[in-house]
Amino acid sequence: MTTPDRPVLRLDHVEKKYKDVTALSDVHLDVHRGEFLSLLGPSGCGKTTLLRMIAGFEQPTAGRIELDGKDLTALPPYRRPVNTVFQSYALFPHMSVAENVAYGLKRAKVPRREMPPRIKEALELVQMDHLANRLPQQLSGGQQQRVALARALVNRPTVLLLDEPMSALDRKLREEMQLELIRLHTDLGLTFLFVTHDQEEALAMSDRVVVLNQGIVQQVGSAEEIYQHPANKFVAGFIGTQNFVPATVIKRNSDSLILRGEREFLKVSGHHPSYQVADKVLAAIRPEHMKIRAGNPSSDTNEVGGIIIGESFRGDAVAYLVRLRDGHEILVRVPARTTPDISEGDYATVSWAEDAVQVFHHD
Ligand code: ATP
Repeated sequence: MTTPDRPVLRLDHVEKKYKDVTALSDVHLDVHRGEFLSLLGPSGCGKTTLLRMIAGFEQPTAGRIELDGKDLTALPPYRRPVNTVFQSYALFPHMSVAENVAYGLKRAKVPRREMPPRIKEALELVQMDHLANRLPQQLSGGQQQRVALARALVNRPTVLLLDEPMSALDRKLREEMQLELIRLHTDLGLTFLFVTHDQEEALAMSDRVVVLNQGIVQQVGSAEEIYQHPANKFVAGFIGTQNFVPATVIKRNSDSLILRGEREFLKVSGHHPSYQVADKVLAAIRPEHMKIRAGNPSSDTNEVGGIIIGESFRGDAVAYLVRLRDGHEILVRVPARTTPDISEGDYATVSWAEDAVQVFHHD
């Protein structure tokens, strides 16, 4: 029996310690039924540990994991209704594609006569039914990963765990597999929990993203929320590119904050009750929220002048690297259609709007 609005998976204040290493601290997370949720974070942040605990290969040192409202702690991995697709495809080399997929069914004790149609269906899902009799070594990396997916999907797990499944694939194949996974997720309506350290991948594919750092959940939200409204300095810097400007609060108005940087003032729109005059802060401005033009600044606020020391064409955009007089560098990205008539070596002014600045406590 399932209740529609109950989370399919709940991590209830989960902690994992390995002797003196705390891999995960107090992780509290509800995964909704049918969602595509990504765990995103740098190497060593605890992503794989979290997945391994859900799969049952590790036990939490505190807290509990519930699937459909039931505590999973006592269930061994093979009795949990979750399957994992690993980075290394982990196919059995001596078994054909079809036998590899059948393995998932045997483990679940599906009667032998029911297997062929289910194997066929799973292989069709990943467009591999025409290669059912091949051995893994006769397949490309992308094809092997499709078989691994079919093997994980054949039992229709309640939650499909994907541990960096695309990291061994080249860029083009990776993009194809991303679209393939989105299609499978939509078609099957299963819950996908996807681990990646690639922010673009996480933002492009997920309904929600969990950003982890040093075993602590930093933020949970949609791609847009995380990108536009990062909860802290770590998320702001980890997702997308930022220009960080160290500054001090010199005035707090009801609808704005005035900061003094090393050589410029910044006006930040909005009400910021958590900042006081004299607080040290870090102002963050994204390269695509900046403008660049030839000549000197006309104001000392939200504008700064410098020399263009680099210019690179990125297809749909042009990126400029501007060195300020104090040596700091600023990255500006403008749509390719709107590039001003400036180039490397020119003096230019970089400016930004009041609402393009985000402020974080600087400790
Ligand atoms: P990556 O992206 O590099 O795979 P990750 O985010 O998946 O990293 P984990 O593998 O979960 O990170 O590791 C989290 C932390 O726990 C790291 O500091 C790691 O060194 C530590 N750790 C993981 N497994 C063990 C173990 N068996 N014994 C001791 N420490 C461990």
